[in-house]
Amino acid sequence: MLSEFEISRDFARKLDKEDPLAHFRRRFYIPDGTIYMDGNSLGLLSKSAERSVLLVLDEWRTLAIRGWLEAKKPWFYLAEDLGAKCSKLVGAQPDEVVLTGTTTINIHQLVHTFYRPEKRRKKILADELNFPTDIYALRSALELRGQDPYKNLVLAPSEDNRYLDENKIVDLMDEETALVFLPSVLYRSGQLLDMEYLAKEAHERGISIGFDCSHSVGVVPHQFDKWDLDFALWCSYKYLNGGPGGSAFLYLNKRHFEREPALAGWFGYVKHKQFNMSIDFEHAKSAGGWQISSPAILSSAPIDGALDVVLEAGIEAIREKSLKMTSYLIYLVDQVLSSAPYNFKIGTPREAKRRGGHVALEHEDGMRISEALRARGVVTDFRPPNVIRVAPIPLYNTYHEIWQIVHRMKIIIDNKEHKIPKARKAIS
Ligand SMILES: *Cc1c(COP(=O)(O)O)cnc(C)c1O
Repeated sequence: MLSEFEISRDFARKLDKEDPLAHFRRRFYIPDGTIYMDGNSLGLLSKSAERSVLLVLDEWRTLAIRGWLEAKKPWFYLAEDLGAKCSKLVGAQPDEVVLTGTTTINIHQLVHTFYRPEKRRKKILADELNFPTDIYALRSALELRGQDPYKNLVLAPSEDNRYLDENKIVDLMDEETALVFLPSVLYRSGQLLDMEYLAKEAHERGISIGFDCSHSVGVVPHQFDKWDLDFALWCSYKYLNGGPGGSAFLYLNKRHFEREPALAGWFGYVKHKQFNMSIDFEHAKSAGGWQISSPAILSSAPIDGALDVVLEAGIEAIREKSLKMTSYLIYLVDQVLSSAPYNFKIGTPREAKRRGGHVALEHEDGMRISEALRARGVVTDFRPPNVIRVAPIPLYNTYHEIWQIVHRMKIIIDNKEHKIPKARKAIS
């Protein structure tokens, strides 16, 4: 089959010229002299996010306590407001999403809310390729409910240490399973799981299911309501470009608004009655009811401007460009870097619909190649044992940058730069 791509540098430039999202790049701060392909770990600052932070600082300076109700976006409602704004990206109702806590805190909040071991149903089903913090949180959830954190945590195995087979996950959903908790996109291989299928199969067996969507929201469109997920959560600092360690999002299907939040706190109180200061907790019948503390206004502020950029570009257009970029990267690696002496392997599904926003390039010298790339101004990241993750971000990366990094990898291997000991590299 003829590829839609060509190998020349001119072709990369042509793709950039035809790119309808190309103008968004000017709205971001690109670190000087770098090709930044690490936006799946920490997205870059946009001018829009910077403005929304500066606005809040100004309001703090001029309004002080009055900012809670008189800021342009009153701080008292900011978590619900920004949740509603983000709901459009994930196919949810405005009151089903709230900006609160952090990713791992939200795992605890929602897993504890849904995990109620009963006579036979005591197990949580996750997977062995999951992000470590998710597994730690699940084990502590089991322990806190008096369950064996190893025996009762079932980890769906991977045959190749890259991918999960959805059918095998479904086979593990049985009458002992109380809850399924999985990632939308695997952080290492970039495999996108079929959430709709998994949710349908879980529900047919009477099991609740939630997803950690940290690696997909902002780059992959979601339909949480249509897929009928029970809950989901995701961070704001990867593809959403909301700032390092910023506040995070959680989604709770409205079917569950009457449930009791496992970790109660005063900002989950029914909004208009919160300041009656009753000591009897009554949670808001919305995702907002699952808040614990006062919203972190300063780390929420950039997310406001950051979301504007994503919404303006449109998640469907972002996904289209993302798939074109990752397909182009895979094509170039196949053409330029797959045979000896380069020996790079693609560790990401080639089928577009099974792919998130990054490409895993596997190489036995991955760590040292990753370091050599940094020395050449390319920021990617390395995940043991052998994966260089490359994330071309539709809002600010170019096709020409993809072309360049593939050719820098080629030069690194040609010159054996990855074989030079680190100490010598630093002085040379
Ligand atoms: C990035 C990421 C996290 C980060 O957790 P924090 O609590 O924000 O540090 C958690 N889970 C997954 C799957 C992630 O990709």
